[in-house]
This record gives sequence, structure tokens and C-alpha cells, in this order.
Amino acid sequence: MTENRETALLASVPDGLFIGGEWRAATDGKTLKVYDPSNGQVVKEIANASPADGKAALDAAVEAFPAWAATPARERAEILRRAFDLLQERKEEFALLMTVEMGKPLAEARGEVAYGGEFLRWFSEETSRIQGRYGANPEGTGRMIVSQHPVGPCFLITPWNFPLAMATRKIAPALAAGCTVVIKPAELTPLTTLYFAKLLEDAGLPKGVVNVFTTSTSGAVSEPIIRDPRLRKLSFTGSTQVGQRLLEQASQGVLRTSMELGGNAPFVVFDDADLDKAVDGAIAAKFRNIGQACTAANRFIVHRSVADEFARRVTERVNGFTIGRGTEEGVTIGPLIDDRAVAKAAQLVQDAVARGASVATGGSAIDGPGTFYQPTVVTDVQPGSEILREEIFGPVLAIVPFDTEDEAVRLANDTEYGLVSYVFTENLARGQRMIERLETGMMGLNMGVVSNAAAPFGGWKMSGLGREGGAEGIHEYLQTKYTLTPNP
Ligand code: NAD
Repeated sequence: MTENRETALLASVPDGLFIGGEWRAATDGKTLKVYDPSNGQVVKEIANASPADGKAALDAAVEAFPAWAATPARERAEILRRAFDLLQERKEEFALLMTVEMGKPLAEARGEVAYGGEFLRWFSEETSRIQGRYGANPEGTGRMIVSQHPVGPCFLITPWNFPLAMATRKIAPALAAGCTVVIKPAELTPLTTLYFAKLLEDAGLPKGVVNVFTTSTSGAVSEPIIRDPRLRKLSFTGSTQVGQRLLEQASQGVLRTSMELGGNAPFVVFDDADLDKAVDGAIAAKFRNIGQACTAANRFIVHRSVADEFARRVTERVNGFTIGRGTEEGVTIGPLIDDRAVAKAAQLVQDAVARGASVATGGSAIDGPGTFYQPTVVTDVQPGSEILREEIFGPVLAIVPFDTEDEAVRLANDTEYGLVSYVFTENLARGQRMIERLETGMMGLNMGVVSNAAAPFGGWKMSGLGREGGAEGIHEYLQTKYTLTPNP
């Protein structure tokens, strides 16, 4: 029954490139295969774009831009709202598709549909609130007009871990602002974006406003687009390493950029925390998406007096997880995205243990088929361990004890990243001090999940540039013009 549903769904996902409102094969006829990480099987073969296809996608976005920018805000808003409504109707299909191509449990995939959809609703509402100002200058010698304009054609590059939400978080504000886009989803999970492009078509989006290409040669196809002087904006979500390379390319055209990059979130538990809340928060912050989130808690910095009890309770919860294919009833932990992700988790745990940490539960890869790693808790992680420096991107919860508040702050800030932090304390003044002292763009105070379409998502330090969502999100796709006119 589920298998039939899956087969029918996969057959209805387009397998072409979406350029200028047409679905077409790659010009050189090449294809790429998409796999199910829970069993290694091919689920679909789709078009594999060449640089010529990438250019054609940009051509289409450039051609469609003037008409879309001139479309009244209310009309743009209504298309986004229709897209939101259609997504609600198709939520089960989107959830199943993400589980099949990415591996997350179905319940979490449904959560991503809800979260991803909110960007369509939020930015449909923000569309009509793009405003300027008019007034006398302080000298009284003229009138100043400040107006907002769409930046132009944009290139959006998304990662594999949240296939729908990363796409809507970029597409919705871009369209709301009046920009046209080319979007390149990750090679590992491209199907959700293709299926979403079909939804946008059904919502009545004019041809060429959104163009999608899928490719196994991201660098070769993307670089000419980024270097093309007609492109006005690059928005990237992915690793810091790739982001740095793209920033270099973008510097040539002094391109506007938004960069949502890696994280290394501290999760600080004070001795005055409510441990029940802290454990619930820890499970959500660590194991959501099988640990493969940029917001995943990476380092659990726990007061020495409660560290053993915290470890005991999270271990008990982890031992209750059910591992398997995300479509199966009751599964809470799916596969990692690929072999490399499994090898990385294994290597980080080995290094921590070699430096003196203990494994409380888990600690091994699981034999195939599929790319699974046991949900793991490691305690007494020693300074200098790689697991404290690197983004784990897997289901491994690493605990480091601390003694004083200053030490907790020092440990928490001891990273080049600054995306998000989590703090658990029942002491209000301490919570306020932590808001002021932790170097992150977002913070969960007694909360393990912070993402919300109405809030500005983004990082400090090497976690990136710009914000997605909130009132800030649309400004990433708008540019300001100041005009001086004589007094009337
Ligand atoms: P990645 O950097 O390998 O890939 C991201 C995207 O860039 C993919 O579409 C990939 O195909 C593309 N890409 C890779 N090389 C490229 C190149 N040379 N030119 C153009 N495009 C290229 O990252 P990933 O493994 O897909 O995602 C995981 C990373 O993303 C983690 O570091 C995670 O923290 C980060 N992430 C950040 C956020 C955030 O909002 N800050 C959200 C999700 C994921």
C-alpha cells in the first residue's frame, strides 16, 4: 500500500529542468540518479544540467524580471498565498517525498512541510508591506524620498538537509520582493524542489519567475551564473567551506549575498536548570533531522553537579529510539544522508574516546543496506577533541562538564561559528547575562528549537551573512533608493 503510494508519487515528480516555464531535458541528454539513503536504492533519474542549461535558466529569470517586478504587490502576494494553500493540500505527498529522498522520519517531514509552508504565508503577507518614506530634509531645502526596489534576478543554492524549507525560505521572500530566481537544489535531494516548482506552476506563477536546474556538477554550472553581470544576488545555504568559495566568485560582480553557513551550537545546562525541560530540549536540539541540522546542538556544556544525571536521563531517552526507514510506523531515527556522513560521525566519536571520553550508549555504525549510525551519547569529552570543533551533523550527543558561569561562556564562545545557542537556567538574571554574552545570531532560552518564519534566522561570525524570515527576510531581496527633490 505504502509502496504503491510511493511509486505513484515518484512518477508524478517531474524529471526535467524547469526553465522559462517549460520542463525540459538537459541539452546534452545527461541524467543523474537520486537514492533512498535508507536502502541505497535508486528512486528516480532526473536531468543533469550542463553550464548551457544553467545559462538558459538565468536567461529566463532575466527575461521575466521586468514584468514580475512591475506586478502589483497584491497579485504577487496572492500567488504566494495560493502556493501555501496548495502545499496544505499536498502536505502528505511532500512529507513522503522528503522521507524517501532524505531519510527523515515521516512525522518530522510533516513538521518541515508545516515550517516550510509558513514562509509562503508570512511573505505573502509581507509583500504588501514594502514601504518607503517621504519628508523634508533637516535643512528644509528639499524633500527626501526613500524607496525600495527588487534587487533583480537571484541565484539560490540550497542544501540537502531541509529540502522544502530551505527552498521556500529563499523563494518566498524573493518573489515577495519582486525578484525572479534560478534555484539549484542539492544533488542528493533535488526531487522536493522539482515537485515544489510544479506546485508554483499550479499556483499560477508566470513563466520564468522561478527556474530550477539539477546537476551533479554544481561548481561548473554555478560559477558562470555567479560571474554573469546580469545576476544581482546570490543566496546560499550550505557549508562554510563552499560559502567562502562562492563569496570569492561573487566579489567579482560585487554581488549582493546572503550566506546561511555552518553551526557549532553550544547547549548550556546550568545547575539551576529544570532538568526535565533541559532533557526535552536536548533531545529536540540534537536528534531532530537525525542530527543533520545547522541548528543542531553540537556541544552539551553541562554543570558538573548535574552532568551525570543529565547524561543518565538523555541516555535513557536515546535508548528508547526506534531506528529504521522513516516511512515505518514509530521510527524516530532514520539514516544519515550518505557513507561520508556515517564515516564522519564514527571518526569524531573515535577521536573523542581516544582523548578520554566515555560512550554511554551507541558509538557504532550499523551494517547496511542504508547509511545508519547509532544514536550516541558520549560523556566527559576532553578539551581539544575534534567533536567540539567540527559540526557533527549526526546523532551524537557530546557532553563537556563545567564549573563556573564564566567557564561556560568561554567554552560556548570557543568556536569560529555563531549560529545558535541554547541555554537552560531558571535564573532570570543569568539567562539575561547569557543573552548578552553568547556570540550567536539566535538563542533558545529554555527552548530546544528556535526556527520560525516570523523570526530573523541567521548567524554571527563564520555562520554567515544576512537573515532569512521575519521582517528582515524581505530586505535581503530589496535595494534602497534615496531621491532628493526640490520643495514643492
Ligand atoms: P554543501 O556546502 O556541500 O552544499 C550546499 C549546496 O551547495 C548544495 O546544493 C551543493 O550542491 C552546492 N555546492 C557544492 N559545491 C558547490 C560549488 N562549488 N558551487 C556551487 N554550489 C555548490 O553543504 P551540504 O552538505 O549540502 O549541507 C550541509 C551544510 O549546510 C552544513 O554545514 C550545515 O550547517 C549547512 N546548513 C546551514 C543552514 C543555515 O541556515 N545556516 C541550514 C541548513 C544547512
